[in-house]
Amino acid sequence: MSLRLTVIGTGYLGATHAVCMAELGHEVLGVDVDPDKIGALRAGRVPFYEPELEQLLAKHTASGRLRFTTSYEEAAEFGQVHFLCVGTPQRKGSDAADLTYVDAVVEALGPHLTRPALVAGKSTVPVGTAARLARRLAELAPAGARAELAWNPEFLREGFAVQDTLRPDRLVLGVRSAAAEALLREVYAPVIAAGTPVVTTDFPTAELVKTAANAFLATKISFINAMAEVCEAADADVSVLARAIGHDERIGARFLRAGVGFGGGCLPKDIRAFVARAEELGTGRSLAFLREVDAINLRRRDRVVELARELCGGSLLGKRVGVLGAAFKPESDDIRDSPSLNVAARLRLDGADVSVYDPKAMDNARKSHPLLGYALSAEDAVRGAEVVLHLTEWREFRELDPAALAPLAHHPRIVDGRGALDAAAWTDAGWDFHSLGRAPGA
Ligand code: NAD
Repeated sequence: MSLRLTVIGTGYLGATHAVCMAELGHEVLGVDVDPDKIGALRAGRVPFYEPELEQLLAKHTASGRLRFTTSYEEAAEFGQVHFLCVGTPQRKGSDAADLTYVDAVVEALGPHLTRPALVAGKSTVPVGTAARLARRLAELAPAGARAELAWNPEFLREGFAVQDTLRPDRLVLGVRSAAAEALLREVYAPVIAAGTPVVTTDFPTAELVKTAANAFLATKISFINAMAEVCEAADADVSVLARAIGHDERIGARFLRAGVGFGGGCLPKDIRAFVARAEELGTGRSLAFLREVDAINLRRRDRVVELARELCGGSLLGKRVGVLGAAFKPESDDIRDSPSLNVAARLRLDGADVSVYDPKAMDNARKSHPLLGYALSAEDAVRGAEVVLHLTEWREFRELDPAALAPLAHHPRIVDGRGALDAAAWTDAGWDFHSLGRAPGA
C-alpha cells in the first residue's frame, strides 16, 4: 500500500532514500534546509554523482510521486513516516559526532506534528541518541499528535546506493512498539517480500549495529594494511597473502585489498565517534583498538607521500606528480576525507607540481582544494610526470593503456595505491611499477 513519507535531509543518503521510496510506490516529500539542493532536485538534477539515481529521480518527479520542499509545516502535514537523514559529521576539535543537525530536525518538526506520525532515524548516531530524541519528541509534539520514534540505520554504499536501498543485505528496525514495526514493514513491504532479512530490535542495539558494522569494515581494511606494512619490511607480497588468506571462508576475500586506505564521509568519522561514545559510557578500552585502526589507515597516506618522494629522488620540489583520482572511492564524486586529495595536498605542500584527474569529482575537488593543479584527462595528468599515483580505483584507470601512456610521462613510474592495476601489463609496457605492501623495488 502506498504511504506518505517525508525524507528529511536530501544529501547522499536522503536523496537516494527519497527516490527509492518513490520507486517502491510511496508518495514522497524530500525536505532540506538548503534551497539550492531542493531547487536542483525539483529540476530533476541530483546535486552529486550516483549511478542510476538521476534516471529514477526523473521518473518519479514526472510520476508525481516525488516532490521536494524546504517547509517543515508542509512536511509535518504530509507525512505518516518521516525519515531523518541529515548529516552527523565529526564535531570540530573532537572525535565525537556533531548531533546539531539531527537535533535541529526534531526541534523543527516536532511542534508541527498534528497527525499521528513515526519519525524514523536513518543517520548514523552514537548509541543513546534515539532514546534522547524520543524524549524530546514527546515534549515537543502537540498533545494528541501520537508522535513516535524509531531507529532504522542505513547501510548503503555510495556508488551502489540505489541497489543497496532497493535490495539491501538486511533491514534493521529499532522500535518500541508493534505499531512502529508494522508501519516500517509496510514501508519496506516490496523489499521484505523479495527476501531481505529483517532484524527487529531495541533502539541501542539498532544504533550499535550500524557503528559496529562500520567498525568491522574499517578494521578489515586496516588489518590488511597492517599486513602490508609488515610485508614491506619482510620482503613479502601482501596481494598474494590477501588472496591466500581470503580463500578461508571464515576470513573471506572481500575488503582485503591493501592500499591507501579508507576515507569518505562515513568510516573515518564513524569509528572516531564510536570510540568517543564508548569512552563516555566508561568502556573506552573495548574500542581502544579502533584508534589503531584509524592510525594504520592514516599511515598508509604517509607511506604514499614517502614513496612518491623516494621515487622523485628524495625531494618533491618542482617535481611533477600525476594523481589519478580525487573521489574517496570510485563511482562517486564524494571527496570527503579523500585519501587521494589528502595525499595530493601534502605533495603540493612539499613543493610538488601536482596534476589531479578524476572522472566525476573534479568540481568538488577544485572547490575544496583550489590550489592543486588539475588535468583534463588521465593522459593529461600523466604528461610530464616524474611519478604517477593511482589513488582512486575507477574502472577508467584500470582500463588505461600503459603502452600508450608510457611515452607521455617524463619517467614512466607508477604507484598503484589501490592494488587494482595489472602489474605485469604496466611493467611490460616499460613502467617502473610500485604497489603498497611489497618490499621497495620488488
Ligand atoms: P550529506 O551531508 O550529504 O547530507 C545531509 C543533508 O542534510 C544536507 O543536504 C543538508 O543540507 C541537510 N540538512 C542539514 N540540516 C538539516 C535540517 N535541519 N533539516 C533538513 N535538512 C538538513 O550527508 P550524507 O552522506 O547523506 O549522510 C547523512 C547521514 O547518513 C549521516 O549520519 C551518515 O553517517 C549516514 N550515512 C551515510 C551514508 C553515505 O554513504 N553517505 C551511508 C549510510 C549512512
